Amino acid sequence: MSKVIETLDITSLTDKGDGIASLGSRRVFVAGALPGETVTAELFGIKAGYAQGQLLEVLQPSPARREPFCRHSECGGCQLGTLDYQAQLEMKAERVGKALAARGLEADIAPCLGMSSPLGYRNKSLYNVLAQDGVSDIGFFKKHSHQLVAADDCPVQGDKVPALLAEVRRWMHDFAIQGYNEAEHSGQLRGVMVREGRATGQWMLVLVALGDNLPGLDALTDALGKACPWLTSLVLNINPERGNRILGHEERVLLGSAVIEDRLGGLNFALSGQSFFQINPEQTEKLYATALDFAALTGAEQVFDLYCGIGTISLLLAKKAKSVVGIELVEQAIIDARANAERNGISNAEFHAGKAELLLAELNQQGHNADVVLLDPPRKGCDGAVLDTLLAMAPATLVYVSCDPDSLARDLAKLCAGGYRLDKVQPVDMFPHSLHVETVVRLVR
Ligand code: SAH
Repeated sequence: MSKVIETLDITSLTDKGDGIASLGSRRVFVAGALPGETVTAELFGIKAGYAQGQLLEVLQPSPARREPFCRHSECGGCQLGTLDYQAQLEMKAERVGKALAARGLEADIAPCLGMSSPLGYRNKSLYNVLAQDGVSDIGFFKKHSHQLVAADDCPVQGDKVPALLAEVRRWMHDFAIQGYNEAEHSGQLRGVMVREGRATGQWMLVLVALGDNLPGLDALTDALGKACPWLTSLVLNINPERGNRILGHEERVLLGSAVIEDRLGGLNFALSGQSFFQINPEQTEKLYATALDFAALTGAEQVFDLYCGIGTISLLLAKKAKSVVGIELVEQAIIDARANAERNGISNAEFHAGKAELLLAELNQQGHNADVVLLDPPRKGCDGAVLDTLLAMAPATLVYVSCDPDSLARDLAKLCAGGYRLDKVQPVDMFPHSLHVETVVRLVR
C-alpha cells in the first residue's frame, strides 16, 4: 500500500492532547501537533469519518511551541509538554469557558491560577513494573498503549524519586525480580509508589507485589536505610487481582511507619499509601484558599462538605464555620477524616460514610440543614439526586470544586435552572503540562 501523506492545519486539541485537523469530511488526529500549526503527517487507521496522523514535520510552528523540558517524548504523561506554560493556562481557562457556553451558561472566567515554576510539583508518583519481551522494567505507559517508558528522571516528580528507584532497580537486578505480565497475570512486582510529605520532608515507598513472596526484602530494606536515610516509611502492598488498579488492600510495613505526615493550610494530616490526597501541594493551597474565600464564612454557618475524602477541605472550613458535616463514599477515608479532626483538635466537624446521593437527603430529613455547601465530586460530577436535594435544601451559597469542565457545566446548568446564579469561576492548574483543569465555582441563590 502506498503511503498517504497530507499537509494539515491543526485547529484544536482532543481531550487526550492530540492535534485535530479537517481533511475533506474527515477529522485527522495528530499526536504532537499544536493548534495553529501546519504540519505534514502520514495517515493511518483511515475510517469513513476520521483518521490518525503520524507527525512527520512541523512546517509552520505555533508561536507557543517550545523545546520539550523532558527527553522522554514517547511518554504519555505530559500531553502539553511542548506548549508554552502561559499558553497552557490560557487554553485551560478557555476550555472551562467553552464547556459552560455549550450549556448556555455565561460567566466571567478568571485567568487560570498557575505555578511560578511548574516542575517537580508532584508529591506522589505511581510507576508500573512490567515484564515485556523478557525484560522487567519500571516506568510509565507510552501514549495510547501499555508499553513502558523507563523515566526515572521524570521532571514533574519530586526530587528524591530517582534515588529511591535506583535502589529498587539494583534489588530487582540482584534478585532477578520479575515485573508483571498483564496477559498471563504472572510475575512478582507490579508497581512502585512514592509519596512525599512536602511540608515535613517525610518520604514513603510502596512496593506493590502480586503475592507475599518477594525475595531479598531484607537486603532492599538495608540498602534503602543506608542510601536514603530520609525514607520514613517502606511498605509492601499485596495486590493479587487482575486489572489496571495497581494498589491492593493488604499491607505490611517493612521499615519505619505505615503513614507519613504532611501539612496543608496550617493543618496536619497522616497519609497511608491508600489515602487520597491532592498531588500538587503548592496549587492545592491555592485551590483550597479559593474555595474558602468563595464560602465567605463568618463563623455562624452550618456547612456541608460533599465528597470530602479524608476531610482536608472540611477541616479548613470547620475553623471558620459553626459546624461542618462531611460526606464521603469510602469508609476508610471517613475513618481518616475523623482521625485528622482529632489530630488537629477540631471538634465541630462530623463525618459520615456513604453515597452523597442517599446520605444528603437522609441527613436533611433528620433536620440537618446548611447555609453553605461545598461539593468536590469525582470526574463524572454529581448524581442528579444530589442536585435535587440541594435545590430543595436551598443553601444560600454553593461552592463547586470540579476536575472536569463538562460534568461541571452540566451540573451548573441544573443548579442555575433551579434558582442559583453563577457568581465566580476560578480555574486552577493542578496538573501543569497535562490537559486537566480544576475549577472552583461560587453559586449564590
Ligand atoms: N475533597 C477531597 C476529595 C475529593 S475527590 C479533597 O480535596 O481531598 C472525590 C471524592 O469523592 C473521593 O474521595 C471519592 O471517594 C468520593 N466519592 C465518589 N463517589 C461518591 C459518592 N457517590 N458519594 C460520596 N462520595 C463519593
